[in-house]
Amino acid sequence: MNEAALSEIVPGVHAWVQPDGTWWLNNAGAVADPDGGGVLVIDTCATTARTRRFLAAVDAATGGAPVRMAVNTHLHGDHTYGNHVLPASTVVVSHAATREGVLDDPILRDRPPVWSPAPDWSDTAVRPADATFTDAMTVHLGRRRVDLLHPGYTAHTPGDVVAWLPRERVLFTGDLVFHGGTPLVFMGSVAGARRSLEWLASFGAAHVVPGHGAPLAGDALEAVLADHDRYYRFIEETAARGRAAGLSPVEAARAADLGPFAGWSDAERIVLNLHRAYGEAEGRALDLRAALADAVAYNGGPMHCAV
Ligand SMILES: [Zn+2]
Repeated sequence: MNEAALSEIVPGVHAWVQPDGTWWLNNAGAVADPDGGGVLVIDTCATTARTRRFLAAVDAATGGAPVRMAVNTHLHGDHTYGNHVLPASTVVVSHAATREGVLDDPILRDRPPVWSPAPDWSDTAVRPADATFTDAMTVHLGRRRVDLLHPGYTAHTPGDVVAWLPRERVLFTGDLVFHGGTPLVFMGSVAGARRSLEWLASFGAAHVVPGHGAPLAGDALEAVLADHDRYYRFIEETAARGRAAGLSPVEAARAADLGPFAGWSDAERIVLNLHRAYGEAEGRALDLRAALADAVAYNGGPMHCAV
């Protein structure tokens, strides 16, 4: 079931929200030049069909204004696999590490059978960014300004970027915020993701579009960030206890009580996040294949995926 819809956050600034934000159901966005000059798209979607729906909705909402630029908030396929659907004339930008990650994506290359049903990637083509930056970049859409900002460290991934509209005070966070679902940091850093929470709060946003889940009024962000902080501390503490007891990440996950986090979707991400926390504590790189296999084992089968 996909009841995706485009909502206008403030005039000319749109959020594409795909309920319920589980695996591969991301949010995206579109920011229009108020004088009709063109559109900046923020992320694409996991499949060609989903991206076509998103771009058709943007086209209808902006009177067919050209999509001049697109930014990828990070390397994950739910935010980048639809890049190839964008017009050839669209300039795609991202953090340099995101471009590298898109070009070296093991999920699309190996297609591990860990989600069910698997997303339809039969016609997906890799399209990395045309232009990259490592710190910050400002996009001007006529009178409208969009700042693309990297936190300065690895958080959800090495190349995270938020899109910030300083005049409208709208913040597109990418996957630094999961609203209603379990945060995922296995390809990033638990400590970095925790650190990013204060940075996100510092914008003083009036409107927040998370990477997954429903948009938030700015005054609701603090509680959501506090939940993320509690979850990341829970991951760090569970990893420390598990390592002290000689448990593997999946054994530590099984021994842990999810408590208040049990109600969030995709709870099996605890296994992936623990793999990252163990790796950080032990100075090891993540074994992605082993982490995904353990998450499936914990979950009792392939992970939930919407069609
Ligand atoms: Zn992500």
